[in-house]
Amino acid sequence: MSTGRQAPSGPGPQPRPAGHTPDPYAAGHLAEPYRIKVVEPVRTTTREQRRALLEAAGYNLFLLRSEDVAIDLLTDSGTGAMSDRQWAGLMVGDEAYAGSRSFYALKAAVEDLFGMPHVIPTHQGRAAENVLFTTLVRPGQTVPNNMHFDTTRAHVQHKGGRPLDLVCPEGRRAMGDYPFKGNVDVEALEALLAREGPEGVPLVMVTVTSNTNGGQPVSLANLTAVSECCRRHGVPLFIDACRFAENAWFIREREPGQQGRPVRDVVRDMFALADGCTMSAKKDGLANIGGFLAMRDPELYRQAVAWAVLFEGFPTYGGLAGRDLEAIARGLYEAASEDYLAHRVGQVRYLGERLRSAGVPIVEPVGGHAVYLDAGRFLPHLPPERFPGQALAVELYLEAGVRGVEVGTVLAGRDPETGEHARPPMELVRLAVPRRVYTRAHLDAVADAVLAVFARRDGVRGMKFTYEPPVLRHFTAGFDWA
Ligand SMILES: *Cc1c(COP(=O)(O)O)cnc(C)c1O
Repeated sequence: MSTGRQAPSGPGPQPRPAGHTPDPYAAGHLAEPYRIKVVEPVRTTTREQRRALLEAAGYNLFLLRSEDVAIDLLTDSGTGAMSDRQWAGLMVGDEAYAGSRSFYALKAAVEDLFGMPHVIPTHQGRAAENVLFTTLVRPGQTVPNNMHFDTTRAHVQHKGGRPLDLVCPEGRRAMGDYPFKGNVDVEALEALLAREGPEGVPLVMVTVTSNTNGGQPVSLANLTAVSECCRRHGVPLFIDACRFAENAWFIREREPGQQGRPVRDVVRDMFALADGCTMSAKKDGLANIGGFLAMRDPELYRQAVAWAVLFEGFPTYGGLAGRDLEAIARGLYEAASEDYLAHRVGQVRYLGERLRSAGVPIVEPVGGHAVYLDAGRFLPHLPPERFPGQALAVELYLEAGVRGVEVGTVLAGRDPETGEHARPPMELVRLAVPRRVYTRAHLDAVADAVLAVFARRDGVRGMKFTYEPPVLRHFTAGFDWA
């Protein structure tokens, strides 16, 4: 019988035997599957200090210094904690310009986990999108996706393409417990491909998990149907793989016939359906920077590499240091381990469950990397033009030094034609959970802060702009209480 002990070298933690289902709730508590070896002290602040800091930042949480934030849930991107194995990898990183050993470690990991023989490292996920779309997308062509992430949409448009979101109808609703809200509407995809063919659609993308509607997973059955549709029409399928491991975990948890399978087998099955993938290693790469583009077709690789050299650097380093490549190679294996994922997804769900059971309106079901507060229902007395999401995010910081991010009217910007505020479907505050950074005690502190604001919600005032930048206003705007 296997002891499940970690080998001192080799490709990271080995998969557990099928049927091994770590259950962090089994004993009624959620124990982190790691020990803390290095600590980063967090400065505590008083409410009065936070009031002054908010005023100085114009009530824009992007303009706070991170050292003034107690628990930072702004994003899960690049904010994770690396393991001792990854830190050790930094030390043995090979900084050769060409043919770096660390590149080959990454290539071996990508081939082993995803079955993709060709990999081009890039400095982050959007850079992989730039290389891929520069190679494949021509003006006027359509690129379908379940839901485009912001940078993916922007890169399609930058090449003159038309990004099209084809998520299933369940994926567009905040409520309802449909298990795979990231699924593609396959009928709509079929109709599109039948109409436009490979001339009009240079590739199909599927984002796992779907970030834009809350980290919602795509089922293996849906990916299979998408893949068959793409093959019938001769259009390549690429996976936006940023949260591939979290998606595989949801498949293993929720999909009939997939229960208890080793995550690595599920990952293999997912990627066997695709022709390539783009990846931000800042998510399920468990690294602080990096990404890659991977694919099967050697001819496509040859074309893509030409652009990669121009945008990112020689194809065995791709804008990264050798040590980064090493950290990513190790991080990918760690992200695909059952113990890690049970805790990771369980931790996010725990936060959601504490809030939901106390009556706090959130987006359901909770996805893999974040809990979304429904500020519209949380603060029903505030109309969209009083920015309920911004007001709630500011109150959370004031309450306990917790930083989330508004995903509502402020982020949506103005309609270029009418000049009015765009009308997003919901007013949300995203609480994204960095990987392996916070413990259950931190999440309890976050839940307590949300509940404290919830208890005094009737007294929460709306906000107005004191300065509104013309583009990407959320990053640099100034606010005050209305
Ligand atoms: C973060 C992200 C990207 C872009 O990756 P960066 O490393 O931030 O450039 C692309 N797609 C999805 C789904 C993402 O979450």
